[in-house]
Amino acid sequence: MELSHILDKSIESGFLNRDDIVFLLKLDTSSDVQRLLDAADEVRRSCVGDEVHIRALVEFSNFCVRRCNYCGLRAPNTKVKRYRMLPEEIVSLAIELDRKGLKTVVLQSGEDPYYTSEMIAEVVREIRAQTNMAITLCVGERSYDDYKLWKDIGANRYLLRHETANRELYASLHPDGNFDNRMRCLGWLQNLGYQTGAGCMVGLPGQTVEHLADDIEFIRDFQPDMVGIGPYIPHPNTPLAGSRPGNLEMTLKMIALARIVTRDALIPATTAIGSIHELGREMALKAGADVVMTNYTPVEYRVHYEIYPNKRYVLEDSSECDLRLRSRIQSIGRTVSTGHGHSRKQR
Ligand code: SAH
Repeated sequence: MELSHILDKSIESGFLNRDDIVFLLKLDTSSDVQRLLDAADEVRRSCVGDEVHIRALVEFSNFCVRRCNYCGLRAPNTKVKRYRMLPEEIVSLAIELDRKGLKTVVLQSGEDPYYTSEMIAEVVREIRAQTNMAITLCVGERSYDDYKLWKDIGANRYLLRHETANRELYASLHPDGNFDNRMRCLGWLQNLGYQTGAGCMVGLPGQTVEHLADDIEFIRDFQPDMVGIGPYIPHPNTPLAGSRPGNLEMTLKMIALARIVTRDALIPATTAIGSIHELGREMALKAGADVVMTNYTPVEYRVHYEIYPNKRYVLEDSSECDLRLRSRIQSIGRTVSTGHGHSRKQR
């Protein structure tokens, strides 16, 4: 009874209060969980349609000054071989991706102050001048002026996951992080007119259903243009080595809730969910997701961008992955988008 009522409300308006969210996160029989995922799939179909957008991911540096307890790239991890791509190298790769017909390049790195605001600006400027691609940046917390400069010269989108919307949990995972600063950065990005991506991990050590409800309430209230949600995967060279990975079903419920409360956000079926289950990405696409990322980082670097271990697809040829991905998308009755896949939110 109660479930039917909340799911009707989910499909019609998406206006869920905290009690509804906690109730849905606590669903435990597989048939009830499936009803939630189906409701999200229905919202996806009616609000954004059947297209799936493909993004080309380029992980251009794995240097990082931060010490996030979950991440394999954290500064104190001396076992990782560090690399940086030169600005020219990033730009020529982007030109190649544009020629292959990709419509978005996502430039991601650790927090690496080696790249000054001007260096990143030059990369954005060149890609803007020489290609027709949308440009997404994902380089962590920077100053307002940096964000503004990059936006002014043509960056379109920025991904900065909030990681967890619970202040205490955030503090326990980020010995040198500052919850308020992360939230401030997200506000700046949105105000500057970026299509802004937030998101979180599921199954972090110490994370409860109440914490996950905080994430969904944050997503509902902030209304990001994009929402990246993936399972936490423990990395052996971090203080959280040996902890349990996030659970597939809970991750799918979170993706479903993100779809329900945002209606038309761009929601990726993340590499992380594809890494904990062979069909994780397809399952995410059937639970509200409408974006996938193909990794185009040159293989010699890619193996070292180890935020978590055993990342799937790490050794595979990007173009082959891309082809396989397209056929997998079609096999579940969806179409591959040929456009830029910009945010549909009107600000
Ligand atoms: N430095 C950038 C990019 C970080 S890597 C930034 O701060 O935004 C991209 C995302 O990977 C992170 O935001 C985090 O949510 C995720 N991540 C990091 N370590 C992880 C782990 N062990 N398991 C799953 N996801 C992880």
